[in-house]
Amino acid sequence: MMLKKLEVPTPSKAFEKMARWAATHVKSNGLNVAIPTILEKQHRHRMVRIPNVFFQNKLMGMSAMVNRNVLVNALDAEFSFFKGADKSKNGLQVKGLKTVSNVAVACDAALETIEGAVAAKADLLVVHHGLLWEGAGPIRTDPLLRKRLAFAKNAGLNLYAQHLPLDAHPKLGNNVVLGHALGLSDLVPACVHDGAKVAFKGRLEKPVSLSAFSKTVAKKVGDVYAVLPFGPQMVKRVAVCSGSGGFCTSFAKTEGFDTLVVGEFKHSDYHAAKEFGVNVIEAGHYNTEVWGVQAVGRWIEARFGVPIVCVNAPTGY
Ligand SMILES: [Zn+2]
Repeated sequence: MMLKKLEVPTPSKAFEKMARWAATHVKSNGLNVAIPTILEKQHRHRMVRIPNVFFQNKLMGMSAMVNRNVLVNALDAEFSFFKGADKSKNGLQVKGLKTVSNVAVACDAALETIEGAVAAKADLLVVHHGLLWEGAGPIRTDPLLRKRLAFAKNAGLNLYAQHLPLDAHPKLGNNVVLGHALGLSDLVPACVHDGAKVAFKGRLEKPVSLSAFSKTVAKKVGDVYAVLPFGPQMVKRVAVCSGSGGFCTSFAKTEGFDTLVVGEFKHSDYHAAKEFGVNVIEAGHYNTEVWGVQAVGRWIEARFGVPIVCVNAPTGY
């Protein structure tokens, strides 16, 4: 938590009332924000010490600013734990303005989300699926990529991507955050993919039927596309692998889970799931992969005090 002294006049009663209201009511575009109790007066210096730069600035009608490189270095450090291979060129993919005062998060980097971020006056867009991937052809031969890059660059928008590290992160990752939301406890990393565990597995305190658990998943993520009842009727141990997590079926026995919650399930994984005897709940690629960027948004807001918006652009997959 940043502590910053700001030289402002001792607040009036009306200001204090507004600050107290903001401390308990303000939400940022659907992202719940943990707001510390506000206003510790230091009469001697006629200063107000507020442990949240964003709300201080918001109340004073100013916006917080952070150096782009400081923010990017902090993000890079946070995701440096990941040692697996990843085709995504993780990190800062598009360099825009050097100062960031608004941040947007989105699952995918696409024209729609880039335009949304710019419309929301963001200087930085943090995504799970970025624009730059290993093995992709040259930029000049890719018209979509050229258009997206040009739009971001013209608007001065920085674009930052974390792919597999944002699935695997132990606090901010898609899988651990979704696992908690589904009521799983004792969550630990699971299922090695290209040298690193990217999924999480946990257990339900009270086993429930597969149909009841599918309903819980649908309620939390918005929908369930398919349920493959190839495991036990009662769900006890669950692995969560957002996105294309079908490869996890082969870990069901060795990792000891009976049910797999996955984003997109492939035709080619169907018989494997059947033969490994594991239930599969397909909950949508998009719907399982917005959790991580939203957690990163909250993380940025708490540390740097810049407001966050989430650009929602569901794909239906
Ligand atoms: Zn994905």
